[in-house]
Parts: sequence; structure tokens; C-alpha cells
Amino acid sequence: MTSISELGEFGLIKRLSKDISIYNKSTVKGIGDDAAVLSYQNKETVITTDILIEGIHFDLSYVPLKHLGYKAVIVNLSDVFAMNASPKQITVSIAISNRFTLESIEEIYKGIKLACDTYKVDLIGGDTSSSVTGMVICITAVGEADKNKITYRSGAKENDLICVSGDLGGAYAGLKLLQREQDVFRSNPEIQPELEGYDYILGKQLKPEARVDIIKLFDELKIKPTSMIDISDGLSSELLHISEESNCGCRIYDQKIPIAEETHAFANELQIVPITFALNGGEDYELLFTISQADYNKFRSNPDVTIIGHITEQTKGNYLVIGEGSEIEIQAQGWNAVKNN
Ligand code: ADP
Ligand code: MG
Repeated sequence: MTSISELGEFGLIKRLSKDISIYNKSTVKGIGDDAAVLSYQNKETVITTDILIEGIHFDLSYVPLKHLGYKAVIVNLSDVFAMNASPKQITVSIAISNRFTLESIEEIYKGIKLACDTYKVDLIGGDTSSSVTGMVICITAVGEADKNKITYRSGAKENDLICVSGDLGGAYAGLKLLQREQDVFRSNPEIQPELEGYDYILGKQLKPEARVDIIKLFDELKIKPTSMIDISDGLSSELLHISEESNCGCRIYDQKIPIAEETHAFANELQIVPITFALNGGEDYELLFTISQADYNKFRSNPDVTIIGHITEQTKGNYLVIGEGSEIEIQAQGWNAVKNN
């Protein structure tokens, strides 16, 4: 194992930034100067940033380092896709304490590079610093879109259909499973973790993907969603963002909300109603968007997209319809709130 102090900051940067592939014409200059240079010609540029702090956003006792690197990139790409834009470049800044070795930081970068290769995004720079205790990773993603395609949270109109990609609640179920097994391990290290049969929810938590396929689908079907947001804090909270920004209300139907079988099974094991994972769990990185009724047929039989409700006028409020018709007001809990229950 190599200590970081042996290598020094510049040695570390050299090691981390070797073997970087550049995929995009818009990257004029990547790593190696005082600043990167980009050229987007006649496209609009979108930019987004996320900070991940050890102990707040991730726990290294159950998240493998490579997965952490991969996921740190994915959460940013998801934000770019949520604008109906294409991510092209990222910068990565890290602060690390001396408890981390070169090998462990390289593990994180393996995950970062894998995400870059998978999504054809260029790593064009960053910053490296020491920290007193934990680890901090800050990633910024830059992307491009045609002016007329950029999709905001604010465009939903009365009678638009509310759609989600994939299924919801899985990442939170995966987190709960990992936490349960960690508690068991702490109380008795002899007991092996029982993770069998839960590959899907573990994957949703540890190795999420960003929905580039849905963005491509919009292009193919010639659809421009009227509004869009990515689901990082649970369906309830994201829906309320759309309602607030679009000055509208909404009705969603509990029986329409897509939940995977494993998510159901694990929620039942914990004696929690599965839909609470979808509404208040976090980190699904699916897309929530609205389309006009005229586009209904294009999505009607698409297995990757589920229509879960519709937009109403603002005075009607935001409600979840249960079964045959009782209504519950949608409240933003955010997944951090659920976590402490
Ligand atoms: P400066 O002193 O101008 O901040 P640095 O020595 O920090 O320059 O960085 C040199 C080059 O390496 C720059 O292109 C920078 O973007 C890149 N870089 C620094 N840290 C990282 C990192 N953790 N990951 C990727 N690139 C990095
Ligand atoms: Mg620097």
C-alpha cells in the first residue's frame, strides 16, 4: 500500500489522470493546464454540480470504493439528462485524509472512469486536496442541448400526463438491506450477510444508472416533455417541485406507481407499505416527466415508462389517490427524513 504523502499532490494527480480517454469534439483541452477549454458552438450549455461527503452521503463500511466513484458520476449525469441534455464533460475534485492509500483513491477513479467510458463523457480536470478526517468528492458535469429541447421543471400544464421511467423505491430498499446486514455484522461478526435474492435492489443502491435511454427515446419519438426532473429524493418531493415550479397541482394513483418485485418483497419483510419506499425513499435516479395528452399513444405500451397520473389546476392541490378513490395529500419528506425513522 502506498501512502499519499509519499507520492505528493502532483504525483497523485498524474496517477489519477493517466489513461483518460477523450470522446467529445467539444473538449478542446482537458487535464493539464490551468483550465480546461470547451467549445459548444451553437448549442446551449448546461452545468450541474454535486458534493458527496463521507458520513452524510455515503458510508464506506458498506459502499465499495469503485461503486462510490461510479455513482458519484451517475448522480451528476442524471441531473443533465433531467434537462433533456447530453452530458459531455466532468470535473472531479476530491479531499482525502491520510487514512486513504493511493490504491483506495485509484479504486474510486476506476469507478469514475468506468462511468465516463460507459456514458462517453470526458474527465477534463478537477482539484485535489487533503482533509482533516473524512473524504469529500465533488463532481461537476457539463452538457449540451438544442435550445428548443431543454426541459425545465416549470412547463407542466393542466391535463398533462405524469410519467416515470423504470421503477421506484428500489435504491432505498437496497440501502435498508445493507444497513440491516451491517447491524447484524456489528452485533456478531461470525454471521454472514444475507443478501441473496436481492441483487436488483442492491444494484439500484450500489450501481445506479442514469436514464440516457429515455432521453434517446424522446428524440426517436419526437417528444418534448413539458417538464422534467430526476428522482433523487423520492417521488413525493420531486412531484411537488414540478407542481410548484409549474404553478399546478397533480393526482397520482397508488396502483399505477411502478415498484419492482424485490422492492415489494423486502418492504414486506420489514412490514413497511412498499409505496412509502417509492414516495419517500431516495436515490432512484429515474426520470419524472410530464407529456401532453397528444403524446399518450407514443408511450402507451412502452415498458420503460409508466403513466402514474395527471396534472391539475393549482387550486386542486397535490394528491395521491388510493384504491377506489380516497385521497391523501402528497407531502415532501425527502429521504433523509425517512432515514431517521
Ligand atoms: P492548479 O494549481 O492550477 O489548481 P492542479 O495542479 O491542481 O492545478 O491541477 C493540474 C491539472 O490536473 C489541472 O488540469 C486539473 O484540472 C487536473 N486535476 C487536479 N486534480 C484532479 C483530480 N482529482 N482529478 C482530475 N483532474 C485533476
Ligand atoms: Mg488545483
